[in-house]
Amino acid sequence: MKLPPFDYACPATLSEAVQLLATHDGEAKAVAGGQSLVPMLAFRLAQPTLLVDLRKLADLRGIRISEKGVTLGAMVRWRDIEDDDRLDTAHPLLKAAIANVAHYQVRNRGTVGGSLAHADPAAEMPGIAITCDAEIAVVGKSGARVIQAADFFQGALTTALTPDEIIVEVRLPAWPKGRRWGFEEFARRRGDFAMAGAAGFYDQNDGKARNAHVGVIGVADRPLRLPSVEAALNGRIIDQAAIAAAEAATCAAVDPQDDIHASAAYRRALVGTMVERALKRAAARQ
Ligand SMILES: Cc1cc2nc3c(=O)[nH]c(=O)nc-3n(C[C@H](O)[C@H](O)[C@H](O)COP(=O)(O)OP(=O)(O)OC[C@H]3O[C@@H](n4cnc5c(N)ncnc54)[C@H](O)[C@@H]3O)c2cc1C
Repeated sequence: MKLPPFDYACPATLSEAVQLLATHDGEAKAVAGGQSLVPMLAFRLAQPTLLVDLRKLADLRGIRISEKGVTLGAMVRWRDIEDDDRLDTAHPLLKAAIANVAHYQVRNRGTVGGSLAHADPAAEMPGIAITCDAEIAVVGKSGARVIQAADFFQGALTTALTPDEIIVEVRLPAWPKGRRWGFEEFARRRGDFAMAGAAGFYDQNDGKARNAHVGVIGVADRPLRLPSVEAALNGRIIDQAAIAAAEAATCAAVDPQDDIHASAAYRRALVGTMVERALKRAAARQ
Protein backbone atom coordinates (compact mmCIF):
# COMPACT_ATOMS: atom_id res chain seq x y z
CA MET A 1 0.00 0.00 0.00
CA LYS A 2 1.24 3.52 -0.73
CA LEU A 3 2.25 5.70 2.20
CA PRO A 4 -0.07 8.56 3.18
CA PRO A 5 1.29 12.03 2.31
CA PHE A 6 3.57 13.74 4.84
CA ASP A 7 6.14 16.52 4.99
CA TYR A 8 9.74 15.60 5.66
CA ALA A 9 12.48 17.31 7.67
CA CYS A 10 16.03 16.18 8.34
CA PRO A 11 17.38 18.44 11.10
CA ALA A 12 21.09 18.72 11.83
CA THR A 13 20.73 19.18 15.59
CA LEU A 14 18.79 17.53 18.42
CA SER A 15 17.27 20.83 19.55
CA GLU A 16 15.99 21.49 16.03
CA ALA A 17 14.46 17.98 15.94
CA VAL A 18 12.74 18.54 19.32
CA GLN A 19 11.50 21.94 18.15
CA LEU A 20 9.96 20.39 15.02
CA LEU A 21 8.15 17.72 17.06
CA ALA A 22 7.02 20.27 19.67
CA THR A 23 5.54 22.70 17.17
CA HIS A 24 3.43 20.05 15.43
CA ASP A 25 1.23 19.24 18.40
CA GLY A 26 1.49 15.44 18.25
CA GLU A 27 1.10 15.40 14.45
CA ALA A 28 4.84 14.89 13.78
CA LYS A 29 6.84 11.70 14.31
CA ALA A 30 10.54 10.96 14.51
CA VAL A 31 11.84 8.43 12.02
CA ALA A 32 15.01 6.43 12.71
CA GLY A 33 15.47 3.15 10.78
CA GLY A 34 11.89 3.25 9.49
CA GLN A 35 11.54 -0.53 9.96
CA SER A 36 8.46 -0.22 12.17
CA LEU A 37 7.17 3.23 11.29
CA VAL A 38 7.04 2.74 7.52
CA PRO A 39 4.84 -0.38 7.82
CA MET A 40 2.67 1.55 10.29
CA LEU A 41 2.26 4.29 7.69
CA ALA A 42 1.50 1.79 4.95
CA PHE A 43 -1.25 0.23 7.06
CA ARG A 44 -2.52 3.69 8.11
CA LEU A 45 -1.85 2.83 11.75
CA ALA A 46 0.02 6.13 11.93
CA GLN A 47 -0.67 9.21 9.80
CA PRO A 48 1.76 11.95 10.90
CA THR A 49 1.78 15.16 8.88
CA LEU A 50 5.55 15.50 9.33
CA LEU A 51 8.39 12.99 9.60
CA VAL A 52 11.47 14.21 11.45
CA ASP A 53 14.41 12.13 10.28
CA LEU A 54 17.04 11.61 13.00
CA ARG A 55 19.78 10.29 10.72
CA LYS A 56 21.99 13.40 10.84
CA LEU A 57 22.21 13.36 14.64
CA ALA A 58 25.66 11.80 14.89
CA ASP A 59 25.77 12.23 18.70
CA LEU A 60 23.02 9.60 18.99
CA ARG A 61 25.06 6.95 17.23
CA GLY A 62 27.82 5.85 19.61
CA ILE A 63 28.29 2.84 21.88
CA ARG A 64 30.15 3.86 25.05
CA ILE A 65 31.56 1.36 27.53
CA SER A 66 32.86 2.44 30.93
CA GLU A 67 33.03 1.09 34.50
CA LYS A 68 29.44 2.36 34.88
CA GLY A 69 28.16 0.14 32.09
CA VAL A 70 27.15 0.26 28.46
CA THR A 71 25.51 3.30 26.89
CA LEU A 72 23.84 2.84 23.53
CA GLY A 73 22.96 5.94 21.52
CA ALA A 74 19.39 5.90 20.24
CA MET A 75 20.57 5.72 16.61
CA VAL A 76 22.78 2.67 17.23
CA ARG A 77 21.64 -0.03 14.81
CA TRP A 78 21.32 -3.73 15.61
CA ARG A 79 24.21 -4.32 13.29
CA ASP A 80 26.47 -1.96 15.28
CA ILE A 81 25.81 -4.11 18.35
CA GLU A 82 26.50 -7.32 16.45
CA ASP A 83 29.77 -5.91 15.09
CA ASP A 84 31.11 -4.55 18.40
CA ASP A 85 33.45 -7.17 19.88
CA ARG A 86 33.76 -5.22 23.16
CA LEU A 87 30.17 -6.18 23.95
CA ASP A 88 31.12 -9.87 24.09
CA THR A 89 32.39 -9.18 27.60
CA ALA A 90 30.80 -5.78 28.37
CA HIS A 91 27.25 -7.08 27.80
CA PRO A 92 26.98 -10.60 26.40
CA LEU A 93 23.25 -10.83 27.24
CA LEU A 94 22.50 -7.80 25.05
CA LYS A 95 24.51 -9.23 22.20
CA ALA A 96 22.84 -12.63 22.40
CA ALA A 97 19.37 -11.07 22.47
CA ILE A 98 19.98 -8.78 19.50
CA ALA A 99 21.15 -11.71 17.37
CA ASN A 100 17.48 -12.78 17.43
CA VAL A 101 16.11 -9.52 16.00
CA ALA A 102 14.59 -10.00 12.56
CA HIS A 103 16.79 -10.56 9.48
CA TYR A 104 20.05 -9.04 8.35
CA GLN A 105 18.33 -6.34 6.26
CA VAL A 106 16.21 -5.17 9.20
CA ARG A 107 19.17 -5.36 11.59
CA ASN A 108 21.08 -3.15 9.18
CA ARG A 109 18.53 -0.33 9.53
CA GLY A 110 16.61 -0.77 12.79
CA THR A 111 17.76 1.20 15.83
CA VAL A 112 17.79 0.89 19.60
CA GLY A 113 15.77 4.10 20.09
CA GLY A 114 13.24 3.11 17.45
CA SER A 115 12.65 -0.25 19.10
CA LEU A 116 12.23 1.25 22.58
CA ALA A 117 9.85 3.95 21.30
CA HIS A 118 7.86 1.47 19.20
CA ALA A 119 7.48 -0.79 22.28
CA ASP A 120 6.47 -4.04 20.63
CA PRO A 121 5.71 -6.45 23.51
CA ALA A 122 7.70 -9.21 21.80
CA ALA A 123 10.76 -7.10 20.90
CA GLU A 124 14.14 -8.06 22.33
CA MET A 125 15.56 -4.63 23.22
CA PRO A 126 12.66 -3.61 25.49
CA GLY A 127 13.00 -7.03 27.17
CA ILE A 128 16.68 -6.44 27.82
CA ALA A 129 15.97 -2.91 29.08
CA ILE A 130 13.43 -4.25 31.60
CA THR A 131 15.56 -7.19 32.69
CA CYS A 132 18.69 -5.09 33.19
CA ASP A 133 17.17 -2.05 34.95
CA ALA A 134 18.08 0.22 32.05
CA GLU A 135 17.73 3.98 32.17
CA ILE A 136 16.32 5.70 29.11
CA ALA A 137 17.54 9.28 28.59
CA VAL A 138 15.21 11.53 26.61
CA VAL A 139 15.07 15.19 25.57
CA GLY A 140 11.92 17.20 24.89
CA LYS A 141 10.73 20.78 24.89
CA SER A 142 10.82 20.87 28.72
CA GLY A 143 14.42 19.64 28.80
CA ALA A 144 16.12 16.33 29.55
CA ARG A 145 14.87 13.55 31.82
CA VAL A 146 15.74 9.96 32.58
CA ILE A 147 13.02 7.31 32.61
CA GLN A 148 13.55 3.95 34.30
CA ALA A 149 12.76 1.07 31.93
CA ALA A 150 10.25 -0.21 34.50
CA ASP A 151 8.23 3.00 34.03
CA PHE A 152 8.80 3.41 30.31
CA PHE A 153 6.67 0.64 28.75
CA GLN A 154 2.99 1.31 29.44
CA GLY A 155 1.24 -1.12 27.09
CA ALA A 156 1.42 -2.46 23.53
CA LEU A 157 3.09 0.25 21.40
CA THR A 158 2.64 2.69 24.29
CA THR A 159 5.39 4.38 26.29
CA ALA A 160 5.98 7.19 28.76
CA LEU A 161 7.34 9.44 25.97
CA THR A 162 5.47 12.66 25.24
CA PRO A 163 5.03 13.51 21.52
CA ASP A 164 7.87 16.06 21.57
CA GLU A 165 10.40 13.77 23.29
CA ILE A 166 13.29 12.04 21.56
CA ILE A 167 15.20 9.15 23.09
CA VAL A 168 18.86 10.09 23.23
CA GLU A 169 20.42 6.99 24.77
CA VAL A 170 19.81 3.91 26.90
CA ARG A 171 22.14 3.04 29.78
CA LEU A 172 22.69 -0.54 30.91
CA PRO A 173 24.41 -0.99 34.30
CA ALA A 174 27.89 -2.55 34.39
CA TRP A 175 28.17 -6.28 33.76
CA PRO A 176 30.45 -7.95 36.35
CA LYS A 177 32.84 -10.74 35.46
CA GLY A 178 31.55 -14.21 36.23
CA ARG A 179 27.88 -13.31 35.90
CA ARG A 180 25.77 -16.28 34.76
CA TRP A 181 23.26 -15.48 32.03
CA GLY A 182 21.04 -16.91 29.32
CA PHE A 183 18.71 -15.70 26.59
CA GLU A 184 16.20 -17.93 24.83
CA GLU A 185 13.30 -17.28 22.52
CA PHE A 186 10.99 -19.27 20.29
CA ALA A 187 9.73 -18.00 16.93
CA ARG A 188 7.95 -19.97 14.25
CA ARG A 189 10.55 -18.95 11.64
CA ARG A 190 14.07 -17.59 12.05
CA GLY A 191 13.81 -13.79 12.28
CA ASP A 192 10.13 -13.62 13.23
CA PHE A 193 9.10 -11.83 16.39
CA ALA A 194 9.29 -14.19 19.36
CA MET A 195 6.16 -16.06 20.41
CA ALA A 196 7.84 -15.98 23.80
CA GLY A 197 11.33 -15.25 25.05
CA ALA A 198 13.26 -15.03 28.30
CA ALA A 199 16.37 -13.23 29.52
CA GLY A 200 17.97 -14.00 32.84
CA PHE A 201 21.12 -13.55 34.83
CA TYR A 202 22.43 -13.92 38.38
CA ASP A 203 25.64 -13.37 40.30
CA GLN A 204 26.95 -15.85 42.87
CA ASN A 205 27.96 -15.91 46.52
CA ASP A 206 29.41 -19.19 47.87
CA GLY A 207 27.91 -20.97 44.87
CA LYS A 208 24.43 -19.56 45.55
CA ALA A 209 22.56 -17.18 43.27
CA ARG A 210 22.10 -13.56 44.23
CA ASN A 211 20.88 -10.52 42.31
CA ALA A 212 18.80 -12.71 39.97
CA HIS A 213 17.04 -10.82 37.19
CA VAL A 214 14.50 -12.51 34.94
CA GLY A 215 12.45 -10.86 32.19
CA VAL A 216 10.13 -12.23 29.52
CA ILE A 217 8.77 -11.01 26.19
CA GLY A 218 5.80 -11.93 24.03
CA VAL A 219 3.40 -12.92 26.82
CA ALA A 220 1.78 -9.62 27.82
CA ASP A 221 1.12 -6.14 26.45
CA ARG A 222 4.67 -5.15 27.46
CA PRO A 223 7.92 -6.84 28.47
CA LEU A 224 7.70 -8.19 32.02
CA ARG A 225 10.16 -8.53 34.86
CA LEU A 226 9.28 -11.50 37.08
CA PRO A 227 10.13 -10.82 40.77
CA SER A 228 8.56 -14.09 41.96
CA VAL A 229 10.89 -16.04 39.68
CA GLU A 230 13.87 -14.05 40.90
CA ALA A 231 12.83 -14.83 44.50
CA ALA A 232 12.74 -18.53 43.60
CA LEU A 233 16.39 -18.30 42.52
CA ASN A 234 18.06 -15.94 45.00
CA GLY A 235 19.93 -17.73 47.80
CA ARG A 236 19.79 -21.11 46.06
CA ILE A 237 22.28 -23.27 44.23
CA ILE A 238 20.99 -23.19 40.65
CA ASP A 239 20.45 -26.89 40.11
CA GLN A 240 17.65 -28.78 38.42
CA ALA A 241 15.27 -28.28 41.37
CA ALA A 242 15.83 -24.52 41.46
CA ILE A 243 15.32 -24.26 37.71
CA ALA A 244 12.12 -26.31 37.92
CA ALA A 245 10.87 -23.99 40.69
CA ALA A 246 11.68 -20.97 38.50
CA GLU A 247 9.84 -22.50 35.55
CA ALA A 248 6.75 -23.15 37.70
CA ALA A 249 6.92 -19.61 39.12
CA THR A 250 7.11 -18.23 35.57
CA CYS A 251 3.99 -20.09 34.47
CA ALA A 252 2.17 -18.85 37.58
CA ALA A 253 3.30 -15.24 37.10
CA VAL A 254 2.20 -14.66 33.50
CA ASP A 255 -1.32 -14.29 32.12
CA PRO A 256 -1.07 -14.42 28.32
CA GLN A 257 -4.10 -14.08 26.06
CA ASP A 258 -5.27 -16.37 23.24
CA ASP A 259 -4.37 -14.94 19.84
CA ILE A 260 -4.13 -16.08 16.23
CA HIS A 261 -0.66 -17.54 16.81
CA ALA A 262 -1.19 -19.55 19.99
CA SER A 263 -3.55 -20.31 22.84
CA ALA A 264 -2.91 -18.71 26.20
CA ALA A 265 -2.09 -22.14 27.67
CA TYR A 266 0.50 -22.84 24.98
CA ARG A 267 2.19 -19.49 25.44
CA ARG A 268 2.25 -19.90 29.23
CA ALA A 269 3.96 -23.28 28.91
CA LEU A 270 6.29 -21.93 26.24
CA VAL A 271 7.54 -19.02 28.31
CA GLY A 272 8.15 -21.38 31.24
CA THR A 273 10.29 -23.49 28.94
CA MET A 274 12.17 -20.40 27.72
CA VAL A 275 13.01 -19.47 31.32
CA GLU A 276 14.05 -23.05 32.04
CA ARG A 277 16.37 -23.13 29.01
CA ALA A 278 17.84 -19.69 29.73
CA LEU A 279 18.64 -20.72 33.31
CA LYS A 280 20.14 -24.04 32.20
CA ARG A 281 22.44 -22.10 29.90
CA ALA A 282 23.29 -19.71 32.70
CA ALA A 283 24.10 -22.52 35.12
CA ALA A 284 26.27 -24.28 32.52
CA ARG A 285 28.54 -21.24 32.05
CA GLN A 286 31.97 -21.23 33.74
C1 LIG B 1 10.23 -7.94 8.81
C2 LIG B 1 10.54 -7.32 10.15
C3 LIG B 1 10.84 -8.15 11.20
C4 LIG B 1 11.15 -7.61 12.45
N1 LIG B 1 11.46 -8.47 13.48
C5 LIG B 1 11.81 -7.95 14.68
C6 LIG B 1 12.18 -8.79 15.76
O1 LIG B 1 12.24 -10.02 15.65
N2 LIG B 1 12.49 -8.21 16.94
C7 LIG B 1 12.45 -6.84 17.12
O2 LIG B 1 12.74 -6.37 18.19
N3 LIG B 1 12.11 -6.03 16.12
C8 LIG B 1 11.80 -6.54 14.91
N4 LIG B 1 11.45 -5.69 13.89
C9 LIG B 1 11.41 -4.26 14.18
C10 LIG B 1 12.77 -3.63 14.03
O3 LIG B 1 13.65 -4.05 15.03
C11 LIG B 1 12.64 -2.11 14.04
O4 LIG B 1 13.78 -1.63 13.46
C12 LIG B 1 12.49 -1.45 15.37
O5 LIG B 1 11.41 -1.92 16.11
C13 LIG B 1 12.21 0.05 15.18
O6 LIG B 1 13.42 0.69 14.95
P1 LIG B 1 13.53 1.75 13.78
O7 LIG B 1 14.84 2.43 13.99
O8 LIG B 1 13.33 1.09 12.49
O9 LIG B 1 12.37 2.78 14.16
P2 LIG B 1 11.34 3.53 13.22
O10 LIG B 1 10.54 2.55 12.44
O11 LIG B 1 12.01 4.62 12.48
O12 LIG B 1 10.42 4.19 14.35
C14 LIG B 1 9.60 3.38 15.18
C15 LIG B 1 8.89 4.29 16.19
O13 LIG B 1 9.84 4.86 17.08
C16 LIG B 1 9.82 6.29 17.03
N5 LIG B 1 11.22 6.69 17.18
C17 LIG B 1 12.28 6.28 16.46
N6 LIG B 1 13.42 6.74 16.99
C18 LIG B 1 13.06 7.48 18.07
C19 LIG B 1 13.80 8.21 19.05
N7 LIG B 1 15.15 8.26 19.06
N8 LIG B 1 13.10 8.85 20.02
C20 LIG B 1 11.75 8.80 20.05
N9 LIG B 1 11.00 8.11 19.16
C21 LIG B 1 11.65 7.46 18.19
C22 LIG B 1 9.17 6.63 15.70
O14 LIG B 1 8.52 7.90 15.76
C23 LIG B 1 8.18 5.48 15.56
O15 LIG B 1 7.03 5.75 16.33
C24 LIG B 1 11.14 -6.20 12.63
C25 LIG B 1 10.83 -5.35 11.56
C26 LIG B 1 10.54 -5.91 10.33
C27 LIG B 1 10.23 -4.97 9.19
